[in-house]
Amino acid sequence: MHFVILELLILVSAALGQSFSGKRNGHALDFTIPTSAATVKVQMLKALTATLPLSLFAAEDPNVATDANTDLIGSAFLLEHSSGRRVMFDIGIRKDTENLAPAILKTFANPDGSFPFKVEKDIPTQLKEGGIELDTIDTVIWSHSHFDHVGDMSLFPNSTNVLAGPGTLKNTQPPFPENPNALNVKTDFEGRNVSEVVFNAPRIAGQAAHDFFGDGTMFLLDLPGHIAGHMGALVRVTTSPTTFILLAGDSNHHIGLVRPNPGVRLLCDHQHDLSEDLQKLGGPDFSDPFITPAPQNKSIHTDAVAATVSLGKVQRFDARADTWVVLSHDGSFAPFLNKTDGIPLFPGSLNDWRKKGLKELTKFAYLKSDNPANIFQSGTETNSSAKDTSESNVVSANNSTSTATTLASATPTSSESSATITNGATADDETSSADDAATNDSTDEGESAGDDEGSSDSEDTADSSE
Ligand SMILES: [Zn+2]
Repeated sequence: MHFVILELLILVSAALGQSFSGKRNGHALDFTIPTSAATVKVQMLKALTATLPLSLFAAEDPNVATDANTDLIGSAFLLEHSSGRRVMFDIGIRKDTENLAPAILKTFANPDGSFPFKVEKDIPTQLKEGGIELDTIDTVIWSHSHFDHVGDMSLFPNSTNVLAGPGTLKNTQPPFPENPNALNVKTDFEGRNVSEVVFNAPRIAGQAAHDFFGDGTMFLLDLPGHIAGHMGALVRVTTSPTTFILLAGDSNHHIGLVRPNPGVRLLCDHQHDLSEDLQKLGGPDFSDPFITPAPQNKSIHTDAVAATVSLGKVQRFDARADTWVVLSHDGSFAPFLNKTDGIPLFPGSLNDWRKKGLKELTKFAYLKSDNPANIFQSGTETNSSAKDTSESNVVSANNSTSTATTLASATPTSSESSATITNGATADDETSSADDAATNDSTDEGESAGDDEGSSDSEDTADSSE
């Protein structure tokens, strides 16, 4: 009986949106998304692998191996609108890493001098080998200006534009070498049109948004905190049923920060993946993430508080059955990339993720003992045994504080910048949105309750022109 009451409480609190943020004021977030009959084809490219200290992303916790390293991937995305227009969302890291800004090389160098970001084949090469000429890409959207996302723009013709989030230019100019401490290099910008997004679309899930193609197929979303101008992209990938992919960029770096959440719970039948200690911790099910974000003094985010607010927004998208959240660096994807029944890489498409069950497949993969993103590091063990294992794994944990400090101190806070550009409509400012008053979504009931194919919104009631 107690469990029934607990379940009800969880469902009610999730429906009110109160579990994710203290600022919800008791009403659910409006998830109305403008309609469209068109879609965008999303193709994922693997840009890099990296091994970084988990402490950059996660607060200390006896159940999590925060003193160990975690393996990340890096991704880039080719987006093809049904009209034929092609853009990229990020282009990964440059192949010749020795030509990155000296401040980056110094910050991330391992004690043995090696660089923890590895690139097999850069994105421009992968595109060309896949038959995509670079001059057919009209815009490279930067989720943000970090080196592992802006690639080597000099490989693209000058006709390819760059679009970045508000505050990016102020934060990156002048680049190296004019500014010897800059994190970007001159060729990231040279000889091309580099502009900043103006978030002028209706707010999406309480966030400032930009309707990139102008027809409701892709909304760039203000997800501040990581660095000035950090953005995500909500991409419509199928109609009937309507489904989306949220490219969440570096809003967070480990899916264990996102889920479990009240909308995507880890139910009892998954608990065989966990140690007995953790099972006791979770009770009948788990509805909170196992990892909490790192504090400001260790965080990889410029503004850890703003990043935590953005994380809450990503969690609410994750709770939707019609949306698959894809992080730039989700290391838990690694075993599934380009595998049969796994996650197809370019030239494969991610659009039928729901039909293929890719969200289900990857949802709690990071808890598996053999997954590279496992946060317990010793499989299903916890506490001291996890830490024992981690000792030998530490490659560059010594650098974690200096990494965070450098990335944070080199830049003004993102929330300040976006406030200027968006006339005060910062993502934090949910309660001021008129949209919030009219809630018609089914999504805050969570994924377990939101499995209807049409899922939410008013999308089926109106059309938009292309
Ligand atoms: Zn990154």
